[in-house]
Amino acid sequence: MSVRVLPDFLVNQIAAGEVVENPASVVKELVENALDAGADQIVIDVVDGGRTSITVIDNGCGMSREDLEKSVMRHATSKLPTDDLTNITYMGFRGEALPSIASVSDMTIDTFSNGAPNGWQLNATTGDVRPSNWDSGTRIRVENLFARTPARLKFLRGDRAEVMSVLEIVKRLAMARRDVGFVLNNKWFFPKNQDLLERMAAVMGDDIGGRMLEINASSESSELSMTGFISEPTLRRASSVDQFLFVNGRPVKDKVLVGALRAAYMDVMHAREFPLCALFLELNPRNVDVNVSPAKTEVHFLEPAHVRAFIIKNLRARLADTLVDNVARDGGVVLAHADISRLADVVPQQMNMHAPRADNFDKNNNFGNKNFSVKYVRDDFNRATDFTGNNIITNDENKNVASVDDAFDEFPLGRAIGQIGDKYILAESGDNLVIVDQHAAHERITYERVRNHKIITQPLLTPIVVNMRDADVVAVMTVADELKSSGLVLDTFGDTAIAIFEKPAAWDLNWAQLLHEIADEVRENGHSVQLNEKLHLKLANWACHHSVRAGQKLDLNQMNALLRDIEHTTRGVQCNHGRPVYKIIPISDLDIMFERI
Ligand code: ADP
Ligand code: MG
Repeated sequence: MSVRVLPDFLVNQIAAGEVVENPASVVKELVENALDAGADQIVIDVVDGGRTSITVIDNGCGMSREDLEKSVMRHATSKLPTDDLTNITYMGFRGEALPSIASVSDMTIDTFSNGAPNGWQLNATTGDVRPSNWDSGTRIRVENLFARTPARLKFLRGDRAEVMSVLEIVKRLAMARRDVGFVLNNKWFFPKNQDLLERMAAVMGDDIGGRMLEINASSESSELSMTGFISEPTLRRASSVDQFLFVNGRPVKDKVLVGALRAAYMDVMHAREFPLCALFLELNPRNVDVNVSPAKTEVHFLEPAHVRAFIIKNLRARLADTLVDNVARDGGVVLAHADISRLADVVPQQMNMHAPRADNFDKNNNFGNKNFSVKYVRDDFNRATDFTGNNIITNDENKNVASVDDAFDEFPLGRAIGQIGDKYILAESGDNLVIVDQHAAHERITYERVRNHKIITQPLLTPIVVNMRDADVVAVMTVADELKSSGLVLDTFGDTAIAIFEKPAAWDLNWAQLLHEIADEVRENGHSVQLNEKLHLKLANWACHHSVRAGQKLDLNQMNALLRDIEHTTRGVQCNHGRPVYKIIPISDLDIMFERI
């Protein structure tokens, strides 16, 4: 076996393996080049899913004849005028895309640069250059992609799937560059100079109207800032298609960011559902490396845990605000924040949290200045926790409470007036009709109630020792504090084992497996969500199974008690699975419906 220096065409084909995965990656490289050339109109056409041809036309600066010839040479770029790799202002700089694409297709470039007497056309396969009547910007046409590499061709999916991937790439770039107009296959249009909300509607669909929450946050040191929009939890998708994340203006699909987004919604959305977002993270370029992968979708944060915590904290705060917002917007009343501790009651022993405090139920609970006798209501909700069939609960002696009308003035969700379908509570609040999904409401309340309790840990007589590789031990120990706050107290046990001294009393999990999973996660992402996620799942299921069911009849007192509890519950707007808990309909809308105005 003798060593040989590979010929250029082979080197390019090998490089193409990394850069040119499918038609979408070709489009990405060509559109990025167009953006780098200063274009503000880019037209993309993809025929037969990209197999037959991919054309990108731009109105950028174009190339002179000399530059055109050099552009398809390996490692030839106009984007590193100095030798400084730390100061990259363009999307590309490797000088690899054009030669790589040319090596696996038939590529032709038409281009015109200002001041030139005419345009030029290059046939990248033959290397021929000839004058052309092209008179503005650049057109790159890629035909017969992968025809010379049948193995790659085999991996292409159906035309529609490939076009959808192309669309996704175009959407990402269109979201990043709202000053530029994009047209794909004469079917998808993203006009230039849209504002962010307009662009989001064009990219994500009109159903986002009025349902995106604005984010505007910066860290104390101002080293890190985040702007953009996230969806109300009731607005969600079955996949991550409508999650748009940017770091210093570049579209990325970074694990740290995706994980943080998911963690922020953990309490309000099912793990199999995906919030929508367009989030722009800006940080000092010194603290992030954007060039770790050739496709540049992943980034390396210097302090991933810091970035993650910043995102989670700010998004959660915004989501928790939605109740106050909605009530203020829809009902014209601002919700007074109440002491949530008064809810500290129905927590079952089997969760090993605080035991139920019977004395709470006997007192008249104090809502604002008004006293309501809700003793039996709470008892009944307790009973409802074991509820399996239909159960009609009535209690006449407290019926009068609901008729004290003005007592309800200050409650955002108002006064219950009845129940329909044994599923929905109707209430009147100022000039609004309020409709509440009773199951969703109670589930939310129960979940938040449980969540607010401290986890009880159980010291172990004999510590559980888990053997691991030393790198894994180190990884787990970096999140030891986080684990401790979730009830798992551990320490190193020599170099290659970890000993668990205390565990959350309520759980028995496969600890060895959990620690290994945590170690993998930490090594990969710099953090772990395993433990919190498991806790979350347990709580959400518990809350769902111990909540008032749809189909259960409630009396006015029970309904009012439920309304008051929702008002005092963080994130009361959605149930744990993200369904809405209530809707507010202004009477003025009813007036319109009845043609009174
Ligand atoms: P890179 O973008 O990393 O520089 P490419 O292989 O993608 O490498 O492109 C090589 C060079 O060709 C670019 O540096 C640029 O000078 C030129 N070029 C490519 N596409 C265009 C375009 N659409 N308009 C003007 N110049 C272009
Ligand atoms: Mg490029």
